[in-house]
Amino acid sequence: MSQLQALQAPQQLTLALSKGRIFEETLPLLRAAGIEITEDPETSRKLILTTNDPLVRVIIIRASDVPTYVQYGAADFGVAGKDVLLEHGGEGLYQPIDLNIARCRMSVAVPAGFDYASAVRHGARLRVATKYLLTARNHFAAKGVHVDLIKLYGSMELGPLVGLSDAIVDMVSTGSTLRANNLVEVEHIMDISARLVVNQAALKMKRGRLQPILDAIEQATRTTA
Ligand code: ATP
Ligand code: MG
Repeated sequence: MSQLQALQAPQQLTLALSKGRIFEETLPLLRAAGIEITEDPETSRKLILTTNDPLVRVIIIRASDVPTYVQYGAADFGVAGKDVLLEHGGEGLYQPIDLNIARCRMSVAVPAGFDYASAVRHGARLRVATKYLLTARNHFAAKGVHVDLIKLYGSMELGPLVGLSDAIVDMVSTGSTLRANNLVEVEHIMDISARLVVNQAALKMKRGRLQPILDAIEQATRTTA
């Protein structure tokens, strides 16, 4: 946001959310802060949703774009998975609250029957398909596993089934998608949950309006955890 825009709308707050589980699981936390979203992103084609508070609006964007909008101040705050934040790098973002929603884990998975441990022991060079290049690179480097990473944007489970890769790094919650595709989890990389992120400048300039919302959300996170 330009300085002039910021001066013209000092009180307006913009919250960045993505459709689906982040949106659904953030709703009760917002409600605890007195914010009700008055439109449904699943039925509305609008990208800017109104709330019961004329000074709070919600923008609906791709999950992986949330840190970018907040970094540049186009959104004052937003909700993003730790997976997405690690890939983004977190520049310009203040990350005050683990919301404990959209919980899952990031794991390495391979086709059932592929002896991952043995391949690693023998120093094999593995092809790994993933959306999470940075996190995957760090993980395998720390373990001394040689990998060629292949960047995908979704449906990682398909990679090993059609010979694109030996393994994948993906998000797992119940494991049913892996099972349905005859893949098994062989390494747990980290636990994942969604975080509230705040633009650092907005936190200073709009603190009076933002802080009570952040406090109410944090309180709600603790009581529902
Ligand atoms: P896009 O559709 O833009 O590619 P996405 O597929 O990552 O994004 P979602 O599937 O809604 O979007 O995931 C949003 C966030 O929810 C992820 O960044 C991750 O933190 C978390 N998540 C991903 N998969 C699961 C899962 N199976 N269970 C729980 N949380 C998950
Ligand atoms: Mg998804």
